[in-house]
Amino acid sequence: MRSRRRSFRRANLAPSSSSGCSRQLPIPILLPQLIAQIGMDVVVEEVTQIWGQGLSQVKALDCFSHHFRSGRFSCLLGPSGCGKSTLIQIIGGLEPATAGHVRVQDPQRPDRARPLGADSVMVWQNLNLFPWRNVIGNIAFGLEMRGMSRAERYHRANAFIASVGLRGFEHHLPGQLSGGMRQRVALARALIMERPVLLMDEPFAALDAQTKIVMQEELLKIFDRTHKTILFVTHAIEEAILLGDEVVVMTARPGRIKEVIPIALPRPRLLEMVNTKEFGALFDRTFHLIREEVTAALAQQAALVASQP
Ligand code: ADP
Ligand code: MG
Repeated sequence: MRSRRRSFRRANLAPSSSSGCSRQLPIPILLPQLIAQIGMDVVVEEVTQIWGQGLSQVKALDCFSHHFRSGRFSCLLGPSGCGKSTLIQIIGGLEPATAGHVRVQDPQRPDRARPLGADSVMVWQNLNLFPWRNVIGNIAFGLEMRGMSRAERYHRANAFIASVGLRGFEHHLPGQLSGGMRQRVALARALIMERPVLLMDEPFAALDAQTKIVMQEELLKIFDRTHKTILFVTHAIEEAILLGDEVVVMTARPGRIKEVIPIALPRPRLLEMVNTKEFGALFDRTFHLIREEVTAALAQQAALVASQP
């Protein structure tokens, strides 16, 4: 376990000059003043989700309850197939829950129900960029759907392009960009919507180690600046601890909360913190919890394969 952590440090922190691949240039995070500072709580109450019918039914979530507080960075950690994406889709208003409730509410006005999806925006691992639209066209798309004039939306999009370090690439198509740059387009496209809740489903999982680090740094700066409510799905323990105010550890399917680990590391978070004793203790505690669930998830998969003709 400890050697895993050390290898993470080596892979992610050391400048790899020997490979000729130096760490990417720091990206200036000059977020436009446009971003809304309103906070929203996400209250999940006893959400159960059953997919499919009859014999092919799958219970993805079982009575999942948690209060994701306004302005907090919450990481959801759990083995593959435990219902993390399902939960994010329900909170984002993309799927109705089989049972239970989700409320996105202004903590000052908890009595006022807001329609699900209205206050959140999602960032996925598969970015869903329009391949035929250039960078600015992709980023401004949501504003176009709102009916904003071309001049206004391009003005705003330009500010976000600068903030995520893509100046000079406005007219490139997604296919002409690296994976990290495409991920920045996806992030800018989400941020430009100025929603108080950011739902991120393994957004950096497909990136190489160095690009991932740059994107984590960017996201931390964005969070320090905007204090949105962020729900961030990951299966990487280090990432969850480095980014989150809390790590919500889920059980193997059906997903329930196994434990919520508060992360009291100071902000701003620095990558060098992974070398501290506090980080190490949090890693060990989280690893211990998740190991049981990953083992259970693997046993589920093996049983499924064995039951197939
Ligand atoms: P995770 O994101 O934690 O890997 P998911 O939420 O994607 O897990 O999936 C949880 C379970 O629900 C899995 O068994 C998956 O196959 C199933 N599932 C997810 N989405 C659907 C769907 N739209 N239809 C049927 N089954 C689904
Ligand atoms: Mg998933």
